[in-house]
Amino acid sequence: MSKQKFKITVNGVEETWKLGAKLAACLKAGDIICLCGDLGAGKTTFVKGVAKKLKINPDDVRSPTFVIMNIYDGKLPVYHFDLYRLDEITEIQAIGYDEFLYGDGVSFIEWSERFGSLHPEEFLKIEINHKTETSRQFIISAQGERYQKIIEKLVKI
Ligand code: ADP
Ligand code: MG
Repeated sequence: MSKQKFKITVNGVEETWKLGAKLAACLKAGDIICLCGDLGAGKTTFVKGVAKKLKINPDDVRSPTFVIMNIYDGKLPVYHFDLYRLDEITEIQAIGYDEFLYGDGVSFIEWSERFGSLHPEEFLKIEINHKTETSRQFIISAQGERYQKIIEKLVKI
């Protein structure tokens, strides 16, 4: 099977939310989504769109900068990690991160590269490139078969 990447440019927060909602429709418990992009790219905004579709109040979705991870209770539990200010890898080990990542919900990870050696092996990668004030390019790629399937589904919605 050839590897598929999905590239799309969106204009405005509303369209980013719509893309998030589409992805939400493709997810199941245990899925891991890594979000890459500079500060202000739109990683958290994208998670708000996913959350809304999963019946979570988007206002509750904030980058969990000081606690490493937020939990939102929706149609599926959502674990929202932000490792931007992570100092020590032991901080993620201390919260028992693997129980969440490989558990009963879907995980979104901002700055996942800071996982270092604890980085999941299989995941959906979403790169967000800041184009103009309101436009963002999303590049979605898969590491692992499960995530390839998500992309195949996503492009058809
Ligand atoms: P990050 O989590 O990547 O640091 P945020 O989602 O917190 O970024 O911030 C993105 C900022 O860019 C918000 O202020 C948002 O309103 C603005 N923005 C403008 N256009 C878009 C867009 N198309 N998608 C996402 N955010 C956008
Ligand atoms: Mg953020």
